Formats: sequence, C-alpha cells, structure tokens
Amino acid sequence: MLKIGILALQGAVREHIRQIEELDCEAIPVKSIDDLKEINGLVLPGGESTTISKLVDRYDLIEPIRDLADNGIPMFGTCAGLILLAKKVVGYDEPHLGLMDVVVERNSFGRQVDSFEVELSMLGEEEDIPAVFIRAPHIVIAGENVEVLAKHEERIVLARDGQFLGCSFHPELTEDTRIMKYFINMVRENTIISSQ
Ligand code: GLN
Repeated sequence: MLKIGILALQGAVREHIRQIEELDCEAIPVKSIDDLKEINGLVLPGGESTTISKLVDRYDLIEPIRDLADNGIPMFGTCAGLILLAKKVVGYDEPHLGLMDVVVERNSFGRQVDSFEVELSMLGEEEDIPAVFIRAPHIVIAGENVEVLAKHEERIVLARDGQFLGCSFHPELTEDTRIMKYFINMVRENTIISSQ
C-alpha cells in the first residue's frame, strides 16, 4: 500500500488524511524527521504559510524534505503548501522550500472576499472540479517545464512541475477526490519507476 505523508504541523491535515484513506493509501501524519522515512509521497497542506514555515524550521524538517525531493519523491502543496514549495514568492527575498519552478503571489484574490467556491475546468477532466479558495495564492509565473492544469480568472491555480503538484485552492474541503487521485497516480508512477 502506498504511504502518503502529510505535513501535520498546522492547517488542513485531517481533511487530506480522509481523502488519502478513501483512495486506499496509508496516510502518515508527519511531525518529525522519523515520520518522513518510508513515505512514497508528501502532501503540504493549506493553513498559514508563515506559521507552517516557522514550524518546519523549528522541527528541522527543511533539509530532510529537500533530501526527499532530491530523491524524486512527489510532493503536493495546497494553498499555503504551494507557497512553501515555490521557488519564489512575490515580495520575499528567500523562498521557503524553493522546489517548484513557479513564482507565487500570496492572498491574490481580493481582500473583501476572503473565501469563495467555483467550478473549474481541469486539463484532462471532462467534468469541472469544485474549488474552494481561502485567502488563496496564485501562480504568477510558471517555469518552462511546468504544465498548467487549471486557471481561474486567467490566473494559474493548479500546475505540475515534474514531481511537484501545486494548487491554490483546497480540494480536500470538497467530496471530490480527483486532484488527490491525480497526485496519488504521480506517486504510483514514481514508485514503479524507482523500483525498476
Ligand atoms: N493566505 C495564506 C498564506 O499566505 C494561505 C491560505 C490557505 O492556505 N488557505 O499562508
């Protein structure tokens, strides 16, 4: 059974665990370096990116997570998780993990409307997907090899850069598991390749 780690320091952790288990994978809440052993993929949840990044630093997880990325482990960042993954965040000198080849801007969808839900068309899916945005970031610039999977109001909100999947919104807050399924397929393909 595939083991999917979920960074469990702050934010929407339980909801991801529910979707991972619904898709017949084992969910491993990650709070320490030990929890990173043996995972086949890692989810970085939404929450508050400044808080999560401080906790990642405090628990000395930044280098171990980068090492996993170097070993090809797929990673999926939602909302604050996307901010952590990005190589550049608008207005900040340094990125956090700095792994995914995108430039991200925080809180991009207006101040009055902090959260909203829309239906989005996703590349490769016939039916629209429900997307819950909560003080969401968006991808301002996608690197050369980044595949754009969905946009909202002309802004990139879902994209894949090789082993990294980044999403502005919160798929885990809906009953629709297609984006998590997409990620688990990335993990499955990587696990098959690395065991050959
Ligand atoms: N606005 C938040 C941040 O910058 C992200 C919001 C979210 O994850 N729902 O950290």
